[in-house]
Amino acid sequence: MIAQGECGGHPVVYLDNAATTQCPRPVLWALENYWLEQHANVHRGVYCRSSQATMAMEETRQHTAEFLGAASAREIVFTHGTTDGLNLLASAFGDAVLRPGDLVLATEMEHNSNLLPWLEVCRRSGAVVELVPVTDAGELDQEALDRLLEQKPKLLTLCAVSNVLGTVNPLKDIIPRAHAAGTAVAVDAAQALRHGLPAVTDLDCDFLCFSGHKLMGPTGIGVLYGKEEWLERFGPACFGGGMVKELDWPDVTYEEIPGRFEAGTPNLSGIAGLGAALEYLQAVGRKRIAAYEGELLRYAAEKLRAIPGIRVLGDPARRAGVLSLDLPPLSAYDAAMLLDKKGFALRSGRQCADLLHRRLGLSGSLRLSPAFYNTREELDALCQALEEILSVSRRAGIPVGESHG
Ligand code: PLP
Repeated sequence: MIAQGECGGHPVVYLDNAATTQCPRPVLWALENYWLEQHANVHRGVYCRSSQATMAMEETRQHTAEFLGAASAREIVFTHGTTDGLNLLASAFGDAVLRPGDLVLATEMEHNSNLLPWLEVCRRSGAVVELVPVTDAGELDQEALDRLLEQKPKLLTLCAVSNVLGTVNPLKDIIPRAHAAGTAVAVDAAQALRHGLPAVTDLDCDFLCFSGHKLMGPTGIGVLYGKEEWLERFGPACFGGGMVKELDWPDVTYEEIPGRFEAGTPNLSGIAGLGAALEYLQAVGRKRIAAYEGELLRYAAEKLRAIPGIRVLGDPARRAGVLSLDLPPLSAYDAAMLLDKKGFALRSGRQCADLLHRRLGLSGSLRLSPAFYNTREELDALCQALEEILSVSRRAGIPVGESHG
């Protein structure tokens, strides 16, 4: 087990990997090595440490391109995370493409990070956002999607994996349909990259964003992938040092891609940590990780469904990474608090997916998200703890919980 330590006298059972994963030792070593041996600014110095720092950053860019299956490292923009990447994309796409009356499609199952940037950019440009509805099983309504595509939206933005239901969206089926309608596709892959997402060149998505901290890396680092021809069309969304080719006041020429989108000093230790995390995942084996995590999830779903009083939300054809629960009359918030007292770390609330919870008719849910360092024994212990909590709450006649979204 990577997560160590105690909480309230209990060893921690960390089951909130959809929020943030724990860093394995090789990532911590890479961070230590960066701070002790490599810390210097990139692109700015002719001295040895600065050029080494620049080389290390560009090597990680190359590794990230290989990890994603991108055609070129020029398609990899370092960001602070998925939210930052989606904001950058929305701003750049809005400026370059969106005009009054244009349509952008998102879905009802998106994280707020893949809704609010589009809502704002559409407000500013006069474009309109519409949502692809979610079925009772927790999948995207494909017929509704096809009807919306008939309106020739400029962009469809959707998650690869829902952070609440774990629904794996059939991207290989959806993306060609969107392209046939002349619609570009952006993928929020925050929850997807440990679960066997195909190479971006195979998916043929136009954009994709992810965060390092959900992939065993540190916080504050992420990636926006964009097809080269798209990135070439975009102007910068943030301005400052490091992205200027020539300033002949007031005329300015900006750097080539991807540097054009990376104003200011990048998160260099984060990039070092991300590089180590991707290497670690490759070394452990991405297929092996996806298979083991899938097996843990199936095991958990089966055991949880057998507990009276627990409802596993959604029943999608393919699920990865997360399971969310409704345990009336106990609120998700109370359940998470009581579990915490027994050492279990689970997420509760609306999980930044307000629209989806509204669709499900819930004010919150309890989410577990195992990673490859979790075990069946930990899931057995969780189920036992949940049974105890439910039985105590039933005996005490705890009323329906309040919303603690
Ligand atoms: N998108 C999805 C599907 C997520 O699950 C999350 C985080 O939980 C995000 C976006 C935002 O990620 P970050 O907070 O790392 O920017």
